[in-house]
Amino acid sequence: MNSAPETIAEMLDRLSEIVPDYPSEGISFKDLTPVFADAQGLRRIVDEVIAPFAGTFDVIAGLEARGFVLAAAAAYATGTGMITIRKAGKLPRAVHRDEYTLEYGTGVLEIHRDDIAPGTRVLILDDVLATGGTVGSAVRLLEIAGAKIAGIGVVLELDELGGRKKLAEHKVHSLQLV
Ligand code: AMP
Repeated sequence: MNSAPETIAEMLDRLSEIVPDYPSEGISFKDLTPVFADAQGLRRIVDEVIAPFAGTFDVIAGLEARGFVLAAAAAYATGTGMITIRKAGKLPRAVHRDEYTLEYGTGVLEIHRDDIAPGTRVLILDDVLATGGTVGSAVRLLEIAGAKIAGIGVVLELDELGGRKKLAEHKVHSLQLV
């Protein structure tokens, strides 16, 4: 008897780990590192997260750190380049800087001022969309740099935190609502 192929949601349920009270009490941390570590899992999330954006972007931006895994793989697969959006103090040259809030704290993101030519269409990738603070910050930085946002792709979307509402002007694609 042939069994039905595993759906992306089934694959994510099988491979991802939920860590209660990490990094602080009350947070249910969605750990995708076992998906990254699985050959089929990694290929599948990368292929499926970029699929709706085919032909609409010139470069892919990854958010430190887990977004780098997706963005680098997706950039390689699509023959585009990758932009690193990093936490404060990591980039060596002149940066644009943006402060943001997230589910369990606040932070600062930075982008090199000259990494993007004005008008470049950028697809933003990250692992989890929670409150939308981090991706919102990346959008601001890229827009300050003169980029056009082609869209936002994430693997998991924490529906009840409403991140998508903050990004209403943009096309957001997630592989699984949790
Ligand atoms: P936010 O800015 O609230 O949308 O948070 C998204 C960022 O924080 C992403 O870079 C995620 O990697 C991380 N993050 C926030 N909440 C979680 C969570 N519950 N599980 C895993 N990662 C999370």
